[in-house]
Amino acid sequence: EAFERACCERLGVRHAIGVSSGPDALLVALMALGIGPGDEVIVPTYSFFATAGVVARLGAAPVFVDVREDDFGMDAAALAAAIGPRTRAVVPVHLFGQCADVDAIARVAGDIPVIEDAAQAFGARYRERAAGGLGAAACFSFFPAKNLGALGDAGLVTTDDDALAAKIRRLRVHGAEPKYHHHVVGGNFRLDPLQAALLSVKLAHLDAWTHARRAHAAFYDEALASRVTTPRALEDRFHVYNQYVVRVRSRDAVRAALAAEGVETMVYYPRPLHLQPCFAGGAQGRFPVAEALARDSLALPVFPELRREERAHVAGALLAHA
Ligand SMILES: *Cc1c(COP(=O)(O)O)cnc(C)c1O
Repeated sequence: EAFERACCERLGVRHAIGVSSGPDALLVALMALGIGPGDEVIVPTYSFFATAGVVARLGAAPVFVDVREDDFGMDAAALAAAIGPRTRAVVPVHLFGQCADVDAIARVAGDIPVIEDAAQAFGARYRERAAGGLGAAACFSFFPAKNLGALGDAGLVTTDDDALAAKIRRLRVHGAEPKYHHHVVGGNFRLDPLQAALLSVKLAHLDAWTHARRAHAAFYDEALASRVTTPRALEDRFHVYNQYVVRVRSRDAVRAALAAEGVETMVYYPRPLHLQPCFAGGAQGRFPVAEALARDSLALPVFPELRREERAHVAGALLAHA
């Protein structure tokens, strides 16, 4: 509860509900909206699997849309074309630590609830408002690879909606209220108190860590922009750089060359969601921006503890091979 209160204060929201993981945050938020078989939920096709996986697990259909070239977030025009009579929610993703264009998305969504997938964006801001307070609800992951990471799995749902918060709190404990009286079928979605205690300690350091990530990003921008496509940090957003993702031709060869020089990189994500075998039916070529990103995106080391000589080595190696 102390961690939940700290998150409310930090994010400027009425409710912060600690849960067992990032995917469980998304799952329980969609369950609280009553989403199930016959429903559709619109998600960007360029994201981590969980964004769409939770929709399918509820028996609903994920409907994919392409992302934008500038912020890698959901494209509002594509969203407009994808909305249909069965659409029950829209889930934009704040990819790599920069918020999606949620005002444009909300305008198109109208009365359809917008649920932020803020798993990579704790501390990010959009037009001076914190990620987590930009939609009907927001879902965070504290998986260790996130910019605010636990020692294992943990997650959080935030909302300003009292009724939705009450439903989520109930679903978190098997739908019981009081204990052993089950009104709905929930699950064990509780946040482990040891993870919460650790996160409370780490939360106090997050601003310093974010500052370090942004300094690394500024260094890379300056060092690399002449040779590769560096990420666009948009003026109306505060990017927290959970990932620093450049775009390079012959990405896999560049990646291997960097590895040979001791630079570990990652590819987020090599296969868009509409082309995953479990969502069979997606045709190649339908979502050109996502498919291009899957081919040429490369994430460089940007963790807070990265030293000056290390980041210079990364930049030098990339300039030599890109
Ligand atoms: C990490 C992440 C999640 C949650 O997944 P975990 O299993 O907690 O790692 C959901 N959506 C996105 C976009 C993520 O990056």
